[in-house]
Amino acid sequence: EAKDNGRARYSFYVPGLDVQIRERLSMANLLRHAAERGELALLYQPLIDLRSGRVVAAEALLRWTSEELGVVAPDLLVPVAEDAGLIEHIGGWVLERACTAAAQWQSIAPCRVAVNVSSLQLQAPESFSEQVDMALKHSGLNAGLLELEITEGVLLRDRPTIGALLAELDRRGIRLSLDDFGTGYSALSYLRRFPFHVLKIDRTFIAGIPDNQEDTELTRAIIAMAQALGLSVLAEGVERPEQRDFLVEQGCDLAQGYLFSRPIDADALAAMLGRNGAVAQS
Ligand code: C2E
Ligand code: MG
Ligand code: MG
Ligand code: MG
Repeated sequence: EAKDNGRARYSFYVPGLDVQIRERLSMANLLRHAAERGELALLYQPLIDLRSGRVVAAEALLRWTSEELGVVAPDLLVPVAEDAGLIEHIGGWVLERACTAAAQWQSIAPCRVAVNVSSLQLQAPESFSEQVDMALKHSGLNAGLLELEITEGVLLRDRPTIGALLAELDRRGIRLSLDDFGTGYSALSYLRRFPFHVLKIDRTFIAGIPDNQEDTELTRAIIAMAQALGLSVLAEGVERPEQRDFLVEQGCDLAQGYLFSRPIDADALAAMLGRNGAVAQS
């Protein structure tokens, strides 16, 4: 608030907002050079086949350790990259790196890699499609071993170009996952209209199992629906044995969460595959 003590000139100054904008700007400037400075890294979280208990895929998760800012979480980093026009560059780096890691795992055991894709990347279908091609070509990874995780936000706009892009990726044998299902709008028509292979139930539902009856029933219903539609279904954020047991009982195909493994580096994932893809669980 403006006071009469000589600070009145700051009457339009909104401290919180200013700090936020400055932080985002300087973060964007640092992010611009993060890849070249070797500050970006990918961790991989195992995706477990609940029937065999083995690792069948791994989700690539971006980490930024900035010299100036410390560790910046992807939930914060991705929106800044999108605003600053950097997501295409970073997303391309993620694709290259993840496909290269996955190509190396294949000499140990078959394992797919899942890459998160920002909706902004899909808004430029041609350059995205080319980045995918390049990453597969450079790494030698089979297209059938790549999964792309997208959230429904992008589908809301329902631009025909996005439908065409997804159909094209599907034709090339790439698997498409609908991430964070159950949050946002979750229009069921997406599941009919777009060629998804995997539906990932958001971890906020899984967190409520078994104590919260509503979350438990919704999870049960989502699994049944995915089965009826012929989709694979994965539960995110499985932390406790009771949750795994419930999911197995419901016939859920896949799971991911701290119960099985936290995100780990590419070598640790390779070592896990070397142990027959077995994860320690309580
Ligand atoms: P997501 O795609 O839903 O990824 C799963 C998130 O859940 C990851 O958070 C993972 O570490 C976390 N998680 C896994 N198991 C558990 C669990 O048992 N309990 C809890 N509490 N959390 C668990 P992370 O790595 O912080 O990533 C957050 C989000 O950032 C991701 O959510 C994804 O939307 C986005 N993201 C990460 N990497 C990339 C990337 O390379 N590109 C893009 N565009 N987005 C990315
Ligand atoms: Mg994801
Ligand atoms: Mg998710
Ligand atoms: Mg999420």
